[in-house]
Amino acid sequence: MNSGPIQPELAEPYLLSVLSSAGLDIEYSRAEGNTLYSVDEDGREFSVLDLAGGYGSLLLGHNNPEITAYATSLLEARTPVLTQFSRHSPANELAAELNRIIHRELGTDEAYYAIFANTGAEAVEAAVKHAEMDRVMRLGAIGEEIAAHIEQARAAVSGGSAVVAAGVDGSVGTGSAGRTDIADVADFDELVAALTRANAEQFSRPPVLLAPEGSFHGKLVGSVQLTHNEGYRAPFRALAAQARFVPLDQPETLRKTVDEERGILLDLVVENGVVRTVERPAPVFCAFVLEPIQGEGGIREVSRAYAEEIQRICAEIDCPVIVDEIQSGMGRTGSFLAGSQIGLRGDYYVLAKSMGGGLAKTSVMLVREARYRREFEMVHSSTFAKDGFSTLIALKVLELLEADGGRLYRRAAEVGGRLLAALESVRADFPDVVNDVRGRGLIAGLEFRDQGDAASEALREPARAGLFGYVLAGWLLQDHRIRTFPTASAVNTLRFEPSVQLTDADIDHVEGALREVCTRIRRQA
Ligand code: PMP
Repeated sequence: MNSGPIQPELAEPYLLSVLSSAGLDIEYSRAEGNTLYSVDEDGREFSVLDLAGGYGSLLLGHNNPEITAYATSLLEARTPVLTQFSRHSPANELAAELNRIIHRELGTDEAYYAIFANTGAEAVEAAVKHAEMDRVMRLGAIGEEIAAHIEQARAAVSGGSAVVAAGVDGSVGTGSAGRTDIADVADFDELVAALTRANAEQFSRPPVLLAPEGSFHGKLVGSVQLTHNEGYRAPFRALAAQARFVPLDQPETLRKTVDEERGILLDLVVENGVVRTVERPAPVFCAFVLEPIQGEGGIREVSRAYAEEIQRICAEIDCPVIVDEIQSGMGRTGSFLAGSQIGLRGDYYVLAKSMGGGLAKTSVMLVREARYRREFEMVHSSTFAKDGFSTLIALKVLELLEADGGRLYRRAAEVGGRLLAALESVRADFPDVVNDVRGRGLIAGLEFRDQGDAASEALREPARAGLFGYVLAGWLLQDHRIRTFPTASAVNTLRFEPSVQLTDADIDHVEGALREVCTRIRRQA
């Protein structure tokens, strides 16, 4: 196939050179379960234990035989893949099955409607977009009510049945818009003009999006603004709505932030022949977006207490909660949703990665019936979303997860527990090198202590450049044939997200390799 002159590297050449400098630019030729195969310079095949697992997309392993056999049968049967604007039974079945599983885990029977997408970031953006449509519609409905109240009051005033309250108290609360004093208006028109001015500020405010520090929700123009990492986010600030980031597990800061952002709209009432202003909360909060276990933020779990507080505060301010289970969900932690183990109940759920069984690129956002706006279906679409192939593969994934009374969930919890115990034992023996071990089931992180002041230049320089984790990944790959990477926003944390097929021998291999790496760091070699 490649008989001509050597091709220049045109696909992301800079990234390739960075990978190459860390010894990570191996080309793989075959993949099965947790194993990737490559061929060395002498033409000999060698295997690599893959713990990066497609950044969390391979809970069922590379080329899972049941999924590949099913995919092959779909192709052989000439299954329609792209039939936009027609009846999509597999998508419907998939949505129903997702509902059945989510209902079981959350102990609810409220329907979640499904909007399909292709990638994680796209589904996050669809959820935020829907939440914003809902907010704008709520805001519009309040605007119409206020307009109707103004007309009623005007009719009462001009008909002589009401007067404007003397020294009317139109002071607006302490939102970020500040106080707007419309006291002491002389007549009705002046009152309406002042009220309209005060309200205009609230009506034109950008939506408030909230997310914990350390969050990662994607890198597209909207979702990257929900990704805390400045390096990814800051250059693109001007392109989309900004989020306010609150420290993880600090309910008091969340409450303070919410109080700063609250907005007030002024409405009119006529009571006992007097026209008065009344305050109503303005729906300024678009969504609180969070991962139950932050993946790219360094495998950090949200506590049950914080989950409860988020829900309490969000219910109080009528702010929908979008639970991003793209990395933590689909069974990886021993239950379908990681959030169900901490009592988190989302208005929205977002799933992607392992939903495609390692073969399909697919994602979905699910929205609770009480918040659902069917108008969204008329303004949102994507050519490849909800395609026949991906939805059938995702159904197969759910069938495998749910088989034998949820054997794979139990397996994820068990084998993940053994992996975490192995990582813990490394930490116990190398507390000077390893700072922390975190995770649940098959999403684990090992955080190394910073080496920015290391004696060894080979450790110090990459650590100062934020590349220490990549150096470790290079050692593990070159010396131990283990593939893992740092999490994207916490680069001293190595990620461990293998498939459920992980064996005890694999875990021993990982533990031995990490001990060698820790010894090397300890010796500053
Ligand atoms: N949300 C979370 C929690 C993720 O981990 C990721 C990807 N690492 C995304 C969103 C973005 O998904 P994608 O890369 O498919 O756009």
